[in-house]
Amino acid sequence: MNPYPPILSDLIRKLSRLPGLGEKSATRIAMYLLKAPDKDVQALAENIRQLRTSIRTCSICFNFTDEPVCSICSDPARNIGQVCIVEGTADLLAIEQSGAFKGRYHVLQGVLAPLDGIGPDQIRIKELFARLKSEEINEIIIATNPSSEGEATAHYLLQILKDHQVRVTRIAYGIPMGGDLKYTDRVTLERALKGRQAF
Ligand SMILES: [Zn+2]
Repeated sequence: MNPYPPILSDLIRKLSRLPGLGEKSATRIAMYLLKAPDKDVQALAENIRQLRTSIRTCSICFNFTDEPVCSICSDPARNIGQVCIVEGTADLLAIEQSGAFKGRYHVLQGVLAPLDGIGPDQIRIKELFARLKSEEINEIIIATNPSSEGEATAHYLLQILKDHQVRVTRIAYGIPMGGDLKYTDRVTLERALKGRQAF
């Protein structure tokens, strides 16, 4: 029998549906919220509420933003000829933190996953073609993840971009810093070799 009052067990059930949380961590968070100072809990609740009302996607790249156009797309210092395609905003942030890319992005907001019913119309592929028509893009860098869905999405994009006057590249995947060749999987090694560069 569930020992908690209904409101508490309902909160635990809802929290445990969040990514990465099981029932144990959900219970720990709920207990923390019960004991935390009132203003902290109110601020958290307000933050969650505002997230849904004030965060939207950029009308150009579909990155999350609180403005109609995100800070990257509205930055005149960015190279408008290069567009890097990523699956989601977290991937965009990882590339931004590397400081290695000065172009703009196109956030697909997902990957092709036919078994889950996610086809080209469920992610922002149509919008990418609209951008190819309206912007002066000369290179598309495909930076989907090296998962089976990420690879399938990259190949699909490669096929449909073939007939466009645009250079299409795929980011190289390598051995991570601190990694060990003998523990690296075959696909990563193959990609690392293919993406090799002159010293
Ligand atoms: Zn944007």
